[in-house]
Amino acid sequence: MKKFVTSEHQRLFDTSIKQLLKDLNTKIEVHMPPTVTRCPNCLWDDAKKTSSGSFNPKFITPIVINGVTISPKSFSKALRCPVCSGKGNIEQEVKKVIPYMTETISTTSENTDLTPIGLLESGEIVVKTLAKYYRYLEGSVFIMKDGIRYTKRVAIKDGLKKPIVCISVLRRDK
Ligand SMILES: [Zn+2]
Repeated sequence: MKKFVTSEHQRLFDTSIKQLLKDLNTKIEVHMPPTVTRCPNCLWDDAKKTSSGSFNPKFITPIVINGVTISPKSFSKALRCPVCSGKGNIEQEVKKVIPYMTETISTTSENTDLTPIGLLESGEIVVKTLAKYYRYLEGSVFIMKDGIRYTKRVAIKDGLKKPIVCISVLRRDK
């Protein structure tokens, strides 16, 4: 029997964090690795692993790739495919805007025990968000916060009986 952490505590913790993030209304922009899709506009050269430099005659109807409509654009053989710039693949940026709060901004050892992550180094900040955003922070390429670019150093899930928050150390890019 768990007497100290009841489901009521769990619920309170859960709703408090969610409400706090909502009230603060501060957001970070998490940039993920781009999605790579084979270009529909040109024919693929499997040996060279790039565009063959020829228009795909079967591409007639515009298609939507990750929310972006791509229409057929025929091109002469002397030119590069205008859709993929001759790469054969289309790379699309993936970014996710998520709510956060700043946990601790400290470079001193006295505050080490305040965070489950440990000692912060110069230029590092701790941000807290909901556990459901863990996968974005964990898989991030970089993070934009207040116009400043950061890279994730570590991301962990934390909570009471089950993970509720994601705590992450971000390092300011030089
Ligand atoms: Zn192409």
